[in-house]
Amino acid sequence: MHNYLSPNYSRQKRSINSIKIIVIHYTGMQSERVSMIRLCNPKSKVSSHFLINMNGKIYRLVEDNKIAWHAGKSCWGKYKNLNKNSIGIELVNRGHRFGYTNFKKKQLSSLIKICKKLIKKYNIKRKNIVGHSDIAPSRKIDPGEKFPWKELANKKIGIWHRCKPNLLKKFRKIKINEKQEKIKFVKNLKNIGYCFPSNKNSFFAKTVKAFQRHYRKELINGILDKECSIIARNLLKNL
Ligand SMILES: [Zn+2]
Repeated sequence: MHNYLSPNYSRQKRSINSIKIIVIHYTGMQSERVSMIRLCNPKSKVSSHFLINMNGKIYRLVEDNKIAWHAGKSCWGKYKNLNKNSIGIELVNRGHRFGYTNFKKKQLSSLIKICKKLIKKYNIKRKNIVGHSDIAPSRKIDPGEKFPWKELANKKIGIWHRCKPNLLKKFRKIKINEKQEKIKFVKNLKNIGYCFPSNKNSFFAKTVKAFQRHYRKELINGILDKECSIIARNLLKNL
């Protein structure tokens, strides 16, 4: 672990009991250097607790007991504006804007190592290991569909379903017509942690997209279909 401290955190400290969530990001910038400069520039007002480069080198930018500025306006379960309740981890990747690439093996094994430590230290629930897009679906798409959530879940980091991919595929694009089933889907997603502000209809498609980016990356269209509905139900069974 290398210290490379960023000044971008709240002055007030937090109790470590308030740490409940791990938020995974990609940097989405041209290079590691540019990302580091931005995350440590007081003018940018953004940071995270950790940054992992493509070779798996881990930098600590903000100490755990300080509130880093990585989540922004966000919501997960009963938590709102998650900076104060979360640890933010940035993975170096150019992202959708500058050439999105697969995450590197060494980078992921460092991420797994650090997540395991944090989970143990702060007793973080599996369903509270999320992507930035999960907690801010109307603004964010990182860490994106190339992030291997399933592999991480195999290591008990985050959750995954137990449906057989071949069987699931048959339900892709099959429309859901009953209102009841849509209501049930929303209820299931809420139980996982996703937030649906009741007054915003446009939010629904964006949240479905975030869900797909995480659990059904083969088709990310923001349209609820039978496959999504089955995945959501199965995820809850295994919580
Ligand atoms: Zn992010």
